[in-house]
Amino acid sequence: MTLPVADTWFQTRALDARTILITEPHVHPIFSANIHLVLGRDADLLIDSGMGIAPLRPVVDAARPDREKPVICLSTHTHVDHIGSAHEFEQRLVHPLEAEDLAAPEPYSLVSADISKPLVDLFAQAGYPPLWTYLIDAIPLPGYNPADYSLTGAPATGTLDEGDTVDLGDWTAEVLHLPGHSPGQIGLWHAASGTLFGADAIYDGPLIFDGPGMSIPDYIATLTRLRALPVTQVHGGHDPAFGPERLHQIVDHYLDLWGAA
Ligand SMILES: [Zn+2]
Repeated sequence: MTLPVADTWFQTRALDARTILITEPHVHPIFSANIHLVLGRDADLLIDSGMGIAPLRPVVDAARPDREKPVICLSTHTHVDHIGSAHEFEQRLVHPLEAEDLAAPEPYSLVSADISKPLVDLFAQAGYPPLWTYLIDAIPLPGYNPADYSLTGAPATGTLDEGDTVDLGDWTAEVLHLPGHSPGQIGLWHAASGTLFGADAIYDGPLIFDGPGMSIPDYIATLTRLRALPVTQVHGGHDPAFGPERLHQIVDHYLDLWGAA
């Protein structure tokens, strides 16, 4: 099977004056995560870094008005679709519970046949479309072989936990520890604008809560907590942004599903 060569691997779109969304449209929906770039006065913040199939750094730098500023790469958690390009950035932050995984991630394959049956079943049960032959429907460059894909370890240069802040000089967000989907998942709460970067704790698509390292009781506490935030907008780890009403609908749906409503 020959895959076509993509015109561009990443898609970049400004969400507001300082927030840029970068996506990988040729990655299967399960693994196509949002990469958010927040521009700051003293530093720029990259929230997650995609699959690591094509170099992300040039795309991030092209979107930054001032490339002399440092870029802080924050990994919300260490699932494959959020850490692929973390190694391309000098400052790498993650929750202590997932620092080991960031330094030495579990090997992952773009060949769907290599993915374990329990995981394939988990994705299907959650409501995702069936996997393709590969996790991509195009290649980033001529001659790219999806079978050669591997994740590069990127030891954290610092850790972030509940109550810490990320300060870009003119934009400060609070770190929220949001376990459930993964033990050390973190989100960011920008109280001044009511913006939540919810990572994979909350997005407008099928949530994944039944796999290795996941905990429904933790997830119930996380979603209950997020529901109480005075949000104006949520930027999740996947899918388009949404507002408070949709947040409440999503949370209520899952709490009901888990018998926690
Ligand atoms: Zn995840």
